[in-house]
Amino acid sequence: MMTAISQNLTAIQTYITQAALSAGRAPDAVQLVAVSKTIAAEEIRRAIEAGVTVLGENYIQEARAKFKQLSTLPAAWHFIGHLQTNKAKYAVRQFDLIHTVDSSRVAKAINREAAKIDKIQKILIQVNISKEETKSGIETEKVAELAEEIVHLEHLKLKGLMTMPPFFNAPEKVRPFFRRLRETRDQLRQRNLPGVDLTELSMGMTGDFEVAIAEGATLVRIGTAIFGERA
Ligand SMILES: *Cc1c(COP(=O)(O)O)cnc(C)c1O
Repeated sequence: MMTAISQNLTAIQTYITQAALSAGRAPDAVQLVAVSKTIAAEEIRRAIEAGVTVLGENYIQEARAKFKQLSTLPAAWHFIGHLQTNKAKYAVRQFDLIHTVDSSRVAKAINREAAKIDKIQKILIQVNISKEETKSGIETEKVAELAEEIVHLEHLKLKGLMTMPPFFNAPEKVRPFFRRLRETRDQLRQRNLPGVDLTELSMGMTGDFEVAIAEGATLVRIGTAIFGERA
C-alpha cells in the first residue's frame, strides 16, 4: 500500500526534477533533505523506506532520541537548526553535514569536538542575506572572513553556504535572496581557498524550493510537503 508519505515524496521528487530540468540543470544535482523536526521516529522510518536518503533535524535533544531508534537505517542526517556550542559534541557525533555555522565561536567548538573523535566534519556557513535581526546567520560582508578562518581549522571541511530568506507568501519575492547567496558563493570561490570546493547551496523549503532550484540550490530542505503540516 502506498502511504501518504510515499505519495508526497513521489510528487516532490517530480517537482524537483522538473524545476532542475527547466533551469537547465541535472536533476541529480539537487538533493532532497527531508526535514523531520517534530516528526515521530515511526514516520521517519516510513519516509526512509519510501526512498528518503537525507533527513534534516533542528534540535539536538529531539534528534538524539530519534537516532536511538533509527541509527541502523540507511540515511544521512543533516543538522539545520541553530547550534549552541555546548551541543557541538552531539552534533559532530550524529550529523554528516551541519548547515548552520555562523560564527567563529561555533566553528571552533565543532572543530574541537571533531578532533576528539578524529572526524572531518562537513559544514556550511549560514548567511543572513536579508539582515533580519531575528534570523541566525552571518552577514554577507563577513562570510569571506569566517571562511578564511575555517580553512585553518583542520577538522572542518567547508562545503558551501546556506540561507533562510524572510518569509513571503510569494516565492518570487525570495528569488533575490537565493540569487544573492549564489553570488556570495561565486565571489568566495574566486578566493581559491585551499581544500574548499563550495559545491553546496542549501536553500529552498516547501513554499519556495522551485525558485531556489532555478537559482542554483543543491540541497532543498523540505518538511511540510513530505510529512504534512507540523502540529
Ligand atoms: C522547518 C525548516 C525547514 C522546512 O520547512 P517546510 O516549510 O516545512 O518545508 C527548512 N529549513 C529549516 C532551517 C527549517 O527549520
